[in-house]
Order: sequence, then structure tokens, then C-alpha cells
Amino acid sequence: MSVLHIPKPDGTSEKVPVTPENTKRYIESIPLYRDDDDPLFWPQEKIAEMQNEMFKRQMEWVWDGHDYYKKVFKESGIKPEDIQSLDDLEKLPLTHKKDYMADPDGFKLKPSNPSLYDWDFEVTYTTGSTTGVPTPFWNTIHDAHGIWHMLFRGAKLGGFPPYSRGINLFPLGPVPHIGFFRARDVGMMGLGSLNMYGCTGMMYPEFPVHRTMDYAMDLIEKGKAEVWLGIASFMRRLIMQAEKEGRDFSATKHIQALGEACPQAMREDMKRRLQNMGAEDPFISNSYGFTEMQGAMPECTDFSGCHNPSPNLYFFEVVDEETGRRVPDGERGLFCITHLNRKGTVLLRYVIGDLGAITHEPCPHCGRNGERTVIVVGSTYATRISELVNLKGTLINPEILRDEVANTPGVKEYQIVFTKKDPEDPFSLDELIVKVASEEGFDRAKIENEIQTKLVTAVEMRAKVEFVEMEEIYDPTVALKAYRIIDTRPSEG
Ligand SMILES: [Zn+2]
Repeated sequence: MSVLHIPKPDGTSEKVPVTPENTKRYIESIPLYRDDDDPLFWPQEKIAEMQNEMFKRQMEWVWDGHDYYKKVFKESGIKPEDIQSLDDLEKLPLTHKKDYMADPDGFKLKPSNPSLYDWDFEVTYTTGSTTGVPTPFWNTIHDAHGIWHMLFRGAKLGGFPPYSRGINLFPLGPVPHIGFFRARDVGMMGLGSLNMYGCTGMMYPEFPVHRTMDYAMDLIEKGKAEVWLGIASFMRRLIMQAEKEGRDFSATKHIQALGEACPQAMREDMKRRLQNMGAEDPFISNSYGFTEMQGAMPECTDFSGCHNPSPNLYFFEVVDEETGRRVPDGERGLFCITHLNRKGTVLLRYVIGDLGAITHEPCPHCGRNGERTVIVVGSTYATRISELVNLKGTLINPEILRDEVANTPGVKEYQIVFTKKDPEDPFSLDELIVKVASEEGFDRAKIENEIQTKLVTAVEMRAKVEFVEMEEIYDPTVALKAYRIIDTRPSEG
């Protein structure tokens, strides 16, 4: 269970469960947090008022220097006076990934009267997981400050233990993605945190700066890492290896598993293994992050929903896939972001590519207002739209398959494969194969039976279960993430 660490004068800390009362105490006990006028504790109406003001200014910047939206507005006859508040957003068309990818430079503000803070600071790239081509996302100096401030609020929201030793376990990849660099910046903004860097990732032989998973494990063990940030499946793999080697990970308190869903069974598995290595009661948290927000929405406690840490930067809405209209709280639809205070790449009503749901109800755990995602499938928050697959003529949500397989006792690692009965014949029947690396001491026939029964219930399909070696489905020296869903069928059209 997650706890808040309230610092005591003698340098130790008191561990308390996350409740609205204890969250207040935690914030009051730390001057940096106490003095932050955090909109998440304002009444809903005041947050909305502030967001409308930010949006108005953002729209002035857009009318001044945003090539793409000026063109779109002109084509649809939209005038500045038509868009006065966030309620008017629905008059604007949705922006899809393909629009942004076709002309990334058209989404970059070109102010007519730039100041020092409008200069370019850096460019990061989307991971391009759907198309394989990374798209640039520009941050100005203004944006960099906004991002740091969001990460400060994120560390506060996620209840990072104060004055702790952190480790950045994101790979230092060839393309600057947000993972490694924003985890670095959280370290910079977290309260008194000292930081270590695993620097794993694809080698660049000319400059050998990359390091091994062994090195990362040494840092955690000898450097007594308390807070970890990284990709969920990579960290789990590291934990499994460390457990095998009998390492001492007793210092671990708080893990931010990012980059993919981290369902309940996976969290429990990681926690149990960490406890075998001496950790007391580590909190495995799953934040929802993406390039277009340059950070992540943290949970305040297990499955609390992912909070928007900065309503002054971002407005989220969930819209109907067909009509683009906003859907009520709790209803599932396309998850969209609108930037409220950015000077580099600016997106309005941008479709992130996930189906999800949000709520504006005050959080029963921490008492914060503002929006937060709610669980939509099993124990995960969002499903990627591009991952909806057609199997035997039925649209299937692989997230449901993942949740069912991951939550089967005895499954150590798995891979779900969509293939053809006869791989040589593209017109042969679709087949669903679940490759499983099983836990020692579990009865394979029982695992097989359980998976088949579950999948017949969940997706009305019989799966072939194959038992394989762990390395066959996930080798962390080759892949950054575990590829849990693979479609080997020839693409249509
Ligand atoms: Zn909360």
C-alpha cells in the first residue's frame, strides 16, 4: 500500500496512509509544498476560471503565430470571437496524430514579437510507436520552466519520499524521448532528491556512454536507491534478475512504473519480489504519461486514477469517437489534450490515441480537485486505439487479453500473438497464441486451462497456449519494453 512519508525533525519520517487529512499534513510539513498555491486544492469553479484565462491567452498566441490552426480556422470560418472559453472548444475540429505528423513545424508557434523565453530550448521526439517515425516536439525556454514546475507538482502529488535517493532507469536512447530526460528533471525538482542514472540503452560504439543492467542493479543495491523511475516491464525484468542473484534491495520505497500499463497482478508480483529482497512495503505506482504533455499524470495512491498535476498547463477532455463531442464524466471515449500555456509546439483538442475516461469528482484519497483518469479496463486506465485488432472478424481489445493473462497465477512473462493457422496461407483462419514463461512450481496444465477458460469468457475465442523460455519473449538486452502483443498476420489492403 502506498504511504506518505512525513519528515520528522530528527531526520526520520513518519509513514501514514494516503487520506485527505494526511495529505494536508504531509504538505504542511514541507515548506516548499506548503507555500505552493496549488490549484488542485482550489474549488472546481476557481480552477475552471483560471483555465479559461490561460486558454484565452493561449488562443491569442495561436492567432498570432500558429500556421496550422490559422489555416484550419480560416477554412472553417472560425473567428477569434467565436472561441472565448473552454466551452467553445467543441467548435474546433479534433487534431489527430496524422495532422501533426504531416507538418510538425506548422504546430510550432512563431510569435511576431518573441522574447528571450520564446527561444528554442530543446526538441524531444514522440516514440512513433504506431508508425515508427518519431515526430519532433519543440519546447521553448518558457515551456521548459513550465515542465519543471509540472514535475515539481507531480513529485508532490505522487508522494515521493522527501530527501530520498532516486534512480533513473529509463534507457538513454538514440532519440531524445521524454522518458530519460523528464525523469532526470523530476530528480532535479523532487524535494532534496539525490539522483543516479542507469544509462542503459542502445550502444553507440563511437562514444561508449551506455551501461549494463548489472550496473543499474549495482547502483540500486550499493547506492541504496529509494525512488525508481522507468519503464514498467524493464524494471520488472531487472527485479526478477536481481532476485535470482539474491541482491539487497531493502532501500526501495517508491516505484514509478511508466510507459505502459502496469496492471494489479504485475504490481503485486514486483512488490512480492522486492519484499523478498528486503524492501519493506514498496509502492508500485503507474503514472500515465505521453510526449504531448512532456510528463506524466501520477497516482496519489494505488489505483486512485491519474491526476492532471498542472491544470494551469493542460486541459483534458474525453470525446465521442464519431462526433467529437465531449462525453460526460466516467464515460469512455477518445482522450484529448489542449495546451493552455505553451510557446513551442502547441496542440488543441489533440487526440492522444488512447481510449479512456475522466472524472472531476474530488479525489477520495488525497482530496484534490481537478481531473483524473478512471480505470476503464480491468486494472488499467487506457487502451491504445491503434491496438484494437480484428480477429476472426471481431474487434478485440488486446488490453482485456493482457489483463486476463497477466492476472493468471504462475504466469511470469507472456506474449500474445495473432497469427494464421497456416502462416504460408494469408487466407487461412486467424489464430490466437499465448506464449507463457511460467513460474517454477506451478502446474502448467492448470495455467493452460485457466488461460483458455478466461479468454473464452473475455473474447469468446480459444487460445493455443505455448510454454516457452523467458528469453524467447523478452530479452531486455535487445528490447526496451516487453512486446506483449504481436500481430504476425499479413496486413490488409
Ligand atoms: Zn488523489
